[in-house]
Amino acid sequence: STETQVELIGKNEVLPMYQPRGKFSHKGNFGHALILGGSYGKIGAVTLASKAALSAGAGKVSCYVPQCGYIPLQTSFPEAMVVTDHSEIQITDVQLDFTPTVVGLGPGMGTHENTKAALKSFLATNKSPLVVDADALNILAGDDSLLKLLPELSVLTPHPKELERLIGKWTDDFDKLKKAKNFAKLYKVILIIKGAHTITVFNDKLYVNTTGNPGLATAGSGDVLTGVITGLIAQGFDAVQASLFGVYLHGKSADLKVEETGYQSLIASHVIEGIALAYLDLF
Ligand code: AMP
Ligand code: MG
Repeated sequence: STETQVELIGKNEVLPMYQPRGKFSHKGNFGHALILGGSYGKIGAVTLASKAALSAGAGKVSCYVPQCGYIPLQTSFPEAMVVTDHSEIQITDVQLDFTPTVVGLGPGMGTHENTKAALKSFLATNKSPLVVDADALNILAGDDSLLKLLPELSVLTPHPKELERLIGKWTDDFDKLKKAKNFAKLYKVILIIKGAHTITVFNDKLYVNTTGNPGLATAGSGDVLTGVITGLIAQGFDAVQASLFGVYLHGKSADLKVEETGYQSLIASHVIEGIALAYLDLF
């Protein structure tokens, strides 16, 4: 039997990962992230994830959304570029004229049959590293051939319900972690089990995050995490470090923001604002 190593992730562990910016750096050095998702009434998820990606330090961010996302995104987030699907209301056919440094896949995407088909053909030709969340996870769950299309070291960020769809029902926490490890190994992915003590599972190792609080139990906070990790990979972090650093920053942001908002009033937009504070708090 293989022994499982457990490591707690706090400031001491993430500080060595920090990548300072050089004086002569330009946006091309920090990658071009794509957030792919959204559907009618759920464009906000893409807005949150793409803002978080840029705030985490990506050089550029584009969004691929149905047409109903064009005006809201361009209005509420002028820093983003927006590419639209042929459909007004959901993603039905992903056509890109550039290769993103990394793709954050799934926020607000929905699980319409046409979206499933579009995701399948996207995965069959995709060459970019992936951060997979939300409805993209729900579409992948239980579909072995689709899961096998994920590039090695894809980052999957399920909340408990999404995790259950991916790995099946568990009997207790030990069983859950065993199933999670088996899943991560089988598909060669990094599995981030979100919750009060977010656990990142990779290669028989468990990394337990030490930041975050119940203020994060609020709509859209997971979309922000997806964006943060996507933004870190865009600027050059490897997928494991981006996962650990991203989960840490996201939780630390919430810890710093709740000092102003309290648990009840923290919303996902505050967590985006707090990314800056979480970076500054490192030093
Ligand atoms: P989602 O359910 O996809 O919106 O993701 C929720 C995010 O908030 C994840 O990053 C969770 O780890 C985090 N979160 C939710 N509830 C808590 C909690 N009670 N304590 C700390 N973090 C939490
Ligand atoms: Mg979510």
